[in-house]
Amino acid sequence: NLQVLLRRRPKGAPVPEDFEIVETKLPEPAEGEVLVRARYLSLDPYMRGRMSEAKSYAKPVELGAVMEGQTAGEVVASRAPGFTPGDTVLGGFGWQRFSCVSPARLFKIDPKEAPLSASLGVLGMPGLTAWVGLEDIGRPKAGETMVVSAASGAVGQVVGQLGKIRGCKVIGIAGGPEKCRFVTEELGFDACIDHRGDLNAQLDAACPEGIDIYWENVGGAVQAAVFPRFRDFGRMVMCGVISQYNTVEGADSFGGAPGPNLGAVVRKRLHIQGFIVSDNGWPRYPQFRREMLGHMAAGKMKWREDVVQGLRNAPTAFIGLLQGANFGKLVVQID
Ligand code: NDP
Repeated sequence: NLQVLLRRRPKGAPVPEDFEIVETKLPEPAEGEVLVRARYLSLDPYMRGRMSEAKSYAKPVELGAVMEGQTAGEVVASRAPGFTPGDTVLGGFGWQRFSCVSPARLFKIDPKEAPLSASLGVLGMPGLTAWVGLEDIGRPKAGETMVVSAASGAVGQVVGQLGKIRGCKVIGIAGGPEKCRFVTEELGFDACIDHRGDLNAQLDAACPEGIDIYWENVGGAVQAAVFPRFRDFGRMVMCGVISQYNTVEGADSFGGAPGPNLGAVVRKRLHIQGFIVSDNGWPRYPQFRREMLGHMAAGKMKWREDVVQGLRNAPTAFIGLLQGANFGKLVVQID
């Protein structure tokens, strides 16, 4: 079995030496377990938190253990009812080719519905995050203005397109002209702001009426520019603050940057709420998947993936994710 282990805890940005690639023997499923062969591994920002011992909502990966992650692939052997060899599944575990998993978190999927890798992105955890966060916290209404940061990424793509389906004016924020062009021309957002340029001037031009919903994926300077532009009764969906993940080690795995003046929350009656998709997202996965497949069939939900070849390249690809090197949902194809 080919595996990527956590060798040591990063200081700041992770480096390749924080990981170790090993060949081990094929695991055998225990009674009640399923042996899954991964075809795709999802690489996600939350993995930076798992590499750290800083306070978080989930336990860190132990040193020397397989890096945490979700895969999609097929069942090779099963000692659990309901799964047979050849089944296509979402929910294999870890940065490794083979894993033994309990069926509780395994979803059997129909490979004819969509390409397998989509079940890690638009039809997977990031898509579910977008859907749950908008349903529960963003609650978009037709005619409202929604701003989405990391707009070309896995979560951002879906948030913005769901906003358009709900009749909102949607403004993306992304790094560089190529990503911005994709966000407007391919995904159909109304405008896209390049966060490497003058944020204030671009926000003034794109949403002079102010902002009803801000989907927060990055934090830092982007948050500081967006926050004062909230309209009364605005909602701020706190999904992530990726710009801070490499900055603080030791205190909080989400970083510790100084925030905006929260007095405006009272005056404008703002609603700011954080959430973690795994809190209550997965029981709703079947409904989410059905709705998304409908949007995809209707041409209202597009997606872009950044596919890296080979598990051995996962560490470098992950390091790049935390610096904006990916363009679209980052997945590793495991040969
Ligand atoms: P993306 O596919 O959006 O990839 C990350 C993107 O973040 C990069 O492409 C880059 O986009 C941007 N980025 C990276 N580093 C920085 C930086 N230092 N400053 C500003 N932008 C940066 O990732 P996901 O869609 O998977 O995740 C987006 C956010 O959602 C993350 O914060 C993640 O933690 C969060 N998340 C939260 C979940 C929850 O349950 N709460 C579940 C899943 C994700 P660009 O080049 O455009 O700047």
